[in-house]
Amino acid sequence: MSVPPRGAAPHQWRGVVEEYRERLPVSDATPVISLGEGGTPLVRSDPLSVETGCDVWLKYDGANPTGSFKDRGMTLAISKAVEERAKAVVCASTGNTSASAAAYAARAGLTCAVLVPKGKVALGKMAATLVHGARMLEVDGNFDASLNVARDLADRFRVTLVNSVNPFRLEGQKTAAFEICDALGRAPDIHCVPVGNAGNISSHWMGYSEYLIDSVIPEPPQLFGFQAAGAAPIVKGEPIADPQTIATAIRIGNPASWEKAVAAASASEGAIGSVTDRQILAAYRRLAREGLFVEPASAASVAGMLQLHADGRLPAGRTVVCVLTGHGLKDTEWAIAGAAPPVTVPADADTVAAELGL
Ligand SMILES: *Cc1c(COP(=O)(O)O)cnc(C)c1O
Repeated sequence: MSVPPRGAAPHQWRGVVEEYRERLPVSDATPVISLGEGGTPLVRSDPLSVETGCDVWLKYDGANPTGSFKDRGMTLAISKAVEERAKAVVCASTGNTSASAAAYAARAGLTCAVLVPKGKVALGKMAATLVHGARMLEVDGNFDASLNVARDLADRFRVTLVNSVNPFRLEGQKTAAFEICDALGRAPDIHCVPVGNAGNISSHWMGYSEYLIDSVIPEPPQLFGFQAAGAAPIVKGEPIADPQTIATAIRIGNPASWEKAVAAASASEGAIGSVTDRQILAAYRRLAREGLFVEPASAASVAGMLQLHADGRLPAGRTVVCVLTGHGLKDTEWAIAGAAPPVTVPADADTVAAELGL
């Protein structure tokens, strides 16, 4: 069977490594392992703009190939692992990192092992990991304990760690900031993002800082990161042994990129704050009513922006971007719990019309 020539169709987005190649640590010798990640929609929110008096945009990173921003970093981490002749990769995960690592490792032909906190991973995330043939081990402990084991493994055995402590993950994830500036034709004034292990806020700051240094943008945005109130070690100023929140992707008690996140917030004159699970769920439902299905953790950025507004810390007229970090389909618990169950009807249009009030 003959293989058709390589290369994308003329208008196809080529993935973050090819789109931003000159800004990433790759060379001609780097085999690019891509699923076409990035290039995600930047959607204007009219209701949130009206409510806040700002120009509010939502960066829908749930539209990445495995349903979260993790793909932006994973394409580079896996490409570099292949370049460095790794045979296996390992990560700890609350679910999205493992789904992403499993997919990119499968594409590269690498063995993938994932360590997840026992009983704490949403079913869809588990499915998205297992379907690609990754070895999933449930650690008797939380995410922080799982990450310690993964780090130890990578230190002592021939296996590459692909958590966000891998510098290539952050390099890849900075492309979200590039895309936002490229789409708006400027940097936003305010950038809001959920904070878990604190890698993503750090990478966004890297991206804005590079554009600033190269005079692509005259000013960077203020960065505001939001932790869940029951898992807010940075806000509290100390690690939390038993973090609790329904937003499982940010249920992290001792963030690996703690100092970088604090530096990003202070250098940009932003802040790290926290929002309650109630605020997160309210924002989650609001986004759903606008047609955007996210997972609960992703709604922390919008919950946080609304908190800034309520506190009088969001001056009218600003351009605001809230990052929606992951798709809702992998964690449907709160979507179903909050909705009325479907009504059973006979296969008859008149009865259906009556039920619908038509
Ligand atoms: C990983 C993740 C986060 C947290 O990002 P960090 O880089 O760990 O701060 C937030 N939301 C979703 C959906 C995630 O998958």
